[in-house]
Amino acid sequence: MLDVIAIGEVLIDFTPVDSAGGSTEQYECNPGGAPANVAVALSQLGAKAALISKIGEDRFGSLLHQALLSSGVDVSGLSFTDEANTTLAFVHLDDDGDRSFSFFRKPGADTFLSSQDVPFDLIENARVLHFGSLSMTHEPARTATRAAVVKAKEAGALLSFDPNIRLSLWETEEAAKQNILWGLPYTDILKISEEELGFITGTTDIEKGSLELQQQFGIPLIVVTLADRGSYYRMTAHDGYAPGFPVKAIDTTGAGDAFLGCFLTKLLEIGNLLNQLTKQQIIDMLTFANAGGAVVTTRKGALQSMPTTDEINKMIDS
Ligand code: ADP
Repeated sequence: MLDVIAIGEVLIDFTPVDSAGGSTEQYECNPGGAPANVAVALSQLGAKAALISKIGEDRFGSLLHQALLSSGVDVSGLSFTDEANTTLAFVHLDDDGDRSFSFFRKPGADTFLSSQDVPFDLIENARVLHFGSLSMTHEPARTATRAAVVKAKEAGALLSFDPNIRLSLWETEEAAKQNILWGLPYTDILKISEEELGFITGTTDIEKGSLELQQQFGIPLIVVTLADRGSYYRMTAHDGYAPGFPVKAIDTTGAGDAFLGCFLTKLLEIGNLLNQLTKQQIIDMLTFANAGGAVVTTRKGALQSMPTTDEINKMIDS
């Protein structure tokens, strides 16, 4: 039985070679894509994780395939296509290591994932299905992702959703929003940034926004990432904050994915009974996840920056 299956984009990030903020035309290639990063984070922390996605029959596809394999991720749901090139993204970093992305997409291979490519038997045997919204920008990946989500729900898996909004990838803001609204009713664990929460609920008050989303969609657990300030959670019976770890961030790409991978790892260690989690258990899980996110910000790259258990424990003890 698999612990977590992640479905969605896998791509190459082109990250500037110079330190943050420098103007440069030199880039290094780093494997990434949010669901892929989450799968690698989980695998590195000892969970059994798989990725369902699609890559091109090109050297970037081979690089991604190799990176996932060597991280111990189950790639039986990773297919190849000659219809499109592997997806490429250009990362721009500001002085605080915060990033923006522009995509070189026509669209890329991961959007060619079709329902025929989805290993539904694997999904039936997973404890958690993790999905994002970026595999739903184009067909056929939108239909394939939605079919996987519906199947996982029917099979009794927990659904983890990271809206991961990148408005530039959608035709309209409304399309981005509608897509997220599609995912929320299926969601058991929602990981969302405070900006995304504001975008969906229209309020900058994260406590109010989380409560509103929880009540509207019946989401058992909402976790809001607050960058260097750590994170906030809302369950039906309680809520709370876990502070962040002070670090010198140079590249925040992948921090949210590491955070989620760490959080899910701890959740799976405790068991599936979401509603029985105590406040202390969740704060401990968030502390571990905040430390994992903080570790990732101290180095460039995404998939290959995912933290180890030792690094996380050192950050917590520091
Ligand atoms: P997202 O990718 O969801 O927008 P964030 O940038 O908020 O994610 O990062 C996820 C988590 O990583 C945060 O909740 C925090 O725990 C940690 N983190 C992110 N940026 C920093 C930072 N500059 N310093 C310390 N921790 C950070």
